[in-house]
Amino acid sequence: MNSDFTLARKVFDVKPPIPLIGHVAFGIIDRGTNLLQIRPTTLCPLSCIFCSVDAGPRTRWRATEYVVGDVDYLLAWFEWAVERKGLGKVHAYIDAAGDPLTYPHIVELVAKLREMPFVETIAMETHGALLTEELAEELDEAGLDRLNLSLDALDPELARTLSGAPWFDVRRVIEVAEYVISSLHMDLLVAPVWVPGVNDAEIPKIIEWTLNVGAGKRWPPLGIQKYELHKYGRKLKGVKPMSWRAFYSALRKWEEQYGVKLVLTPRDFDIVKAKRVPIVFRRFEKVGLKIVGPGWLKGQWLATARGRVVAVVGVEGDPPVGQSVSAIVLRVKDGIYVAHVS
Ligand code: SF4
Repeated sequence: MNSDFTLARKVFDVKPPIPLIGHVAFGIIDRGTNLLQIRPTTLCPLSCIFCSVDAGPRTRWRATEYVVGDVDYLLAWFEWAVERKGLGKVHAYIDAAGDPLTYPHIVELVAKLREMPFVETIAMETHGALLTEELAEELDEAGLDRLNLSLDALDPELARTLSGAPWFDVRRVIEVAEYVISSLHMDLLVAPVWVPGVNDAEIPKIIEWTLNVGAGKRWPPLGIQKYELHKYGRKLKGVKPMSWRAFYSALRKWEEQYGVKLVLTPRDFDIVKAKRVPIVFRRFEKVGLKIVGPGWLKGQWLATARGRVVAVVGVEGDPPVGQSVSAIVLRVKDGIYVAHVS
């Protein structure tokens, strides 16, 4: 297996005093519900040909990979967000603009979340390339409640093509997934990305396999994802995303055929609206930012202000770390901030 997930890119350890809220690629993301996303790393061993975040060794846009090396610092920000939201109970969802299993402290992260009395459930998403029986056992013992496994094809050749990694062996992922569901406490949710014209024939097979192995002990067993185009995501030549109407109509047909719920809502995961972590910038506001590190994508820097981290776009060269710049806030969505030097 290729264990160099970074190739030519730098890995930046996001450390104190850089706040862990405000950036899409790392830290805590609050989308105004009782679920908080925890993003410990941007690294990924695969380079899926449909990847919406252009992750992995074959990335085109990334300049830096981020890792929050200090798990306690990450958890301190998680707790901070829970307090600001005034939540008595919260769902912790470990995901990434990469694969969370690349995080060296992933078991410790789950174990420490489990010790927090206000954490109701802990789920994690992965493509499973780095999953072994031993790691699955460790995560289970640490208290992981659900693994969301993106499994896009059962056919090994097609799965390899989709993964963009010639060493990827989906048969291993299937073996471990079957072990998880037969021998561990945690639940499994199978979440294929349906790429129209590429893995259409695989989706019914994945549904059948998922039902046969008994996934979905506590939550729905499947969460089929629609292929979408993203500005910095990988686009497949000649593949047009399906309309939402056609997508849901196919899911409803399979729901009838297989007697399984496929059209999911936040309620299936007990997700409800909740107060947000305070938003500290307004769109088009002029702000002073302090540059603290390299940008995630080419032409970006990392900056901070008002207790938040901000992605600065449209810049060139090395970041002038420690210097202040004035900028215009371009984007304020779900507490994620993007600014342009003015
Ligand atoms: S889709 Fe997931 S596993 Fe595949 S390259 Fe992107 S982040 Fe990595």
